[in-house]
Amino acid sequence: MKIDKSVLNKNKLALLGSIVQEIPPELELSNIEFEGPSIVVYVRNRKAISEHLDLAQNIAKKVRKRVVIRVSTESRLPVDEAKKKILEIAPREAGLDPNGIYFDETSGEVWVKVEKPGLIVGRGNYVRHKILAETGWRAVPMRASPLESKVLREVVAGTLKQSEYRLEFLRRLGDRIHRDVIFKNNYVRITALGGFREVGRSSILVETRESRLLLDMGINTGVMDDPFKAFPYIDVDSLKLEELDGVIVTHSHLDHVGLVPILYKYGYRGPLYVTKPTRELMIVMLKDLIEVSRRSGRYLPFTEKDLTTMILHTITVEYDEVTDVAPDIKLTMYNAGHILGSAIVHLHVGMGLHNIVYTGDFKYASTRLLDRANTEFPRVETLIMESTYGSAKQQNRLEAEAELVNIVKRTVERQGIVLIPVFAVGRGQEIILILNEAMKNGLIPKLNVYVEGLVNEVTAIHTQYPEYLSRSIREAIYRGENPFTADWLKILESGVARPDIVEDRPSVIIATSGMLTGGPAVDYLKLLASDPRNSLVFVGYQAEGTLGRKIKDGMRELTMVVENKVEAVKIDLEVYSIDGFSGHSDQAELVKYAQSIKPKPRKIILNHGEPSAIDTLARLLRKALLAPGTGYTSLPEIYTPSNLDTVHLTS
Ligand SMILES: [Zn+2]
Ligand SMILES: [Zn+2]
Repeated sequence: MKIDKSVLNKNKLALLGSIVQEIPPELELSNIEFEGPSIVVYVRNRKAISEHLDLAQNIAKKVRKRVVIRVSTESRLPVDEAKKKILEIAPREAGLDPNGIYFDETSGEVWVKVEKPGLIVGRGNYVRHKILAETGWRAVPMRASPLESKVLREVVAGTLKQSEYRLEFLRRLGDRIHRDVIFKNNYVRITALGGFREVGRSSILVETRESRLLLDMGINTGVMDDPFKAFPYIDVDSLKLEELDGVIVTHSHLDHVGLVPILYKYGYRGPLYVTKPTRELMIVMLKDLIEVSRRSGRYLPFTEKDLTTMILHTITVEYDEVTDVAPDIKLTMYNAGHILGSAIVHLHVGMGLHNIVYTGDFKYASTRLLDRANTEFPRVETLIMESTYGSAKQQNRLEAEAELVNIVKRTVERQGIVLIPVFAVGRGQEIILILNEAMKNGLIPKLNVYVEGLVNEVTAIHTQYPEYLSRSIREAIYRGENPFTADWLKILESGVARPDIVEDRPSVIIATSGMLTGGPAVDYLKLLASDPRNSLVFVGYQAEGTLGRKIKDGMRELTMVVENKVEAVKIDLEVYSIDGFSGHSDQAELVKYAQSIKPKPRKIILNHGEPSAIDTLARLLRKALLAPGTGYTSLPEIYTPSNLDTVHLTS
């Protein structure tokens, strides 16, 4: 069948027509481009922009798309002059860094590093538009943080270096997203590619007759020696990379993002949608995975080069912002409360044909760091929900905090050192906040808290995005009391003399890795193990086979190599394990979430849990959903599919 391109582009032409109508002639429209999910209007007369400050907003409201106004190349001030002007216009209180201004000549955007990003945008975009009118450059603010994120700097530098390719990619993608829908009668189905009736390697393929999306593409790092168990089923017939419209990743843990680079290795050149914090955190996690695999000689089916390609194709979305990702699918991400930047994915398919909510990993309770997961959506017919703790209860967080504070207090009283091994993302920051609060309230004396390992860069990323943190932390940061930069908090660079650190007693040491599988935590343990005044506190899950698990289960001797000699060290320090700091919902919270979600789904699909957790949760939900006050009028169908199963959602 021969397809007539001019007929196929009907939708786009109609859209362009209605935008052109909205643009006042004095702006001298030069062209309109579809750049990724955004529509970019280029104008020649930059001065006239100041007369139409709310233009972008008005067009966006009318056509229900993201709209950006830029000035075409010939009407932009030369970089030097523009820089001078921007420094003049920026309000002094914004704290603009004169050495933090980066021009992207291809797109006409200028990244500016400021202490208060809101002031560079201004009320109703006023300051940003003023900069655009005076210089022709569109300002994109980045928060200047007292702890600088190296990864963010690399992302900006990489994008600037490849900005021509990036623009070409965005335009290609824009054409694809806004293509005409060919098929009117539609269906929606999902295929379980990984992480069903198991934990690890999460991946779901969503298909309509028109488009295809992947939700997550993780790896199970526990079984990396067996690719059949470690990777999702990416070889299924329905997954064709050239037909894939996008990959959406809920958060930066490797069981959700670990295998995404392989798609780029095999030639996928489409978008990866994530929140901004997830972009930076996933880079940290993947780089670490590559580095650890290289050092241990373990095979990994992709390299740093594929990661770079992936970053170049990454598109960030904000919470609650609607983004077109295919001609018949709109994506919105909501807070999931699990780790920084973690998202619940909402897909609005086929003009209201079907709405899917995929929770990813979520916490339906607030922690110090994050607000609890979102429960209200515009519409939802199918809920895909994680079930990690479907059969387990957790200690409540306040009890867990009190227990930790008590351990620290007792250890301090006997002049000991508390060692807390943590995972790179999540718990480390939570522990810092708890200790901060305890010192403020005088529950423990002021003492040095040393932080070493991956957590440093991760903490920097946390301070970069206060708007993603819980309300109380965010407000504290806005008031200038950054809890991650207190004077008792000592961030250690790698290469620090650890024997010197353990001379400072009493003190607390927070270090990676969380299960003592390597990293500085293991070195500190060797230095601290034989002294009964010290304490070791596990605050996260300890997997079978790890050193952490062995010690937790009672092992009391460490063998290690010191200067080429094997030595045995007695473990005489006190060992504790606190389970109430999880970033996952426990059984009660999972049930509560399914009861509370609004509106009520007709189908619930359980994933991300061992079979016993899934089956227990399914049983509980069948009983609990019709309880009085939940708002369900009939019991939803509850599915517990296995990997490779397909569920037809619109049947
Ligand atoms: Zn997770
Ligand atoms: Zn997970």
